[in-house]
Amino acid sequence: MKIAVLAGGVGGARFVRALTEVVDPRDVTVIANVGDDLEVHGLHVSPDLDTLLYTLSGLGDDERGWGRAGETWNASETIELLGGETWFQLGDRDIGLHLVRTEALSRGEPLSAVTARLARSVGLVVTLLPATDDRLRTRMRTPAGELDFQDWFVARGQRDRVNEVVYEGAEAARAAPGVLEALEEAELIAIAPSNPFVSIGPILAVRAISEALERRRDRLVAVSPLIGGRAVKGPAGAMFASLAGGTGPAQVTDCYKGLIGALVLDEADADGVDAVAERGVRPLVTRTLMSEPDARRALVETVLGLVPATT
Ligand code: GDP
Ligand code: CA
Repeated sequence: MKIAVLAGGVGGARFVRALTEVVDPRDVTVIANVGDDLEVHGLHVSPDLDTLLYTLSGLGDDERGWGRAGETWNASETIELLGGETWFQLGDRDIGLHLVRTEALSRGEPLSAVTARLARSVGLVVTLLPATDDRLRTRMRTPAGELDFQDWFVARGQRDRVNEVVYEGAEAARAAPGVLEALEEAELIAIAPSNPFVSIGPILAVRAISEALERRRDRLVAVSPLIGGRAVKGPAGAMFASLAGGTGPAQVTDCYKGLIGALVLDEADADGVDAVAERGVRPLVTRTLMSEPDARRALVETVLGLVPATT
């Protein structure tokens, strides 16, 4: 069974890893957010692609959730010593990847091609695709003005209230090669429990992608990133409160209105099933905390259960 997954970084990677504990990774295509991408010291960094690449190839630092295991920070220390900017942390091993990618991009190689090459080099089995090869950047409208995503997230530590999230470049962005084909071929399309506003939103903002998804509603299932009305990690809870007016399954459903056929929500949020059903979406309740092996299996089986068994 071919499966396509829309994913951000940490929540996306954990979900895809859980999925590939059950299904053949060769059947899985991951369509990743690039709205977080940025230039640091002249290097093109793609945080979500890298989290996916590292986590799914076994090179990642599981505890931190991002970056490489066994990382060292010599370059960073030198940058600091020399008075350079260190607000965005880059480990030495990580920098190696950014050097290869940046050099390739500067030669005109598309991001999708570089990503495929990097993935092959580290022995990744799932297919990893950026949502687009075109420039697409998430920006946060706050009382302090409009900020680059990483400026808001890392440099300013998410202290500014978010009034609106915009996806610069999305109008003109085309789907990267392979993305629409993967969405068409997939028997199941899953939206990982990634942040809907800053991880999935930028992917859906690529018009060709949301159009392709509209035709697949019956096979499209999202997993809620909220457990008991709170994010497992990161700013999703606060963003739901300020941008969606609440932190329950109703608000998660509204993020994907008209798009998804089913929503997987945690047992802790089971009181929200009616609100999901009222919105014409099938609620599927299970345990969703992916650090727990039992919950992980239950979650994946619930997601896979959306597709009727065939012989
Ligand atoms: P980022 O791009 O690295 O910020 O990560 P994502 O957007 O892919 O994922 C962040 C989201 O994953 C957060 O909103 C978390 O609540 C969610 N998340 C992380 N771990 C789990 C988990 O075990 N279960 C569920 N349901 N959500 C999770
Ligand atoms: Ca991200």
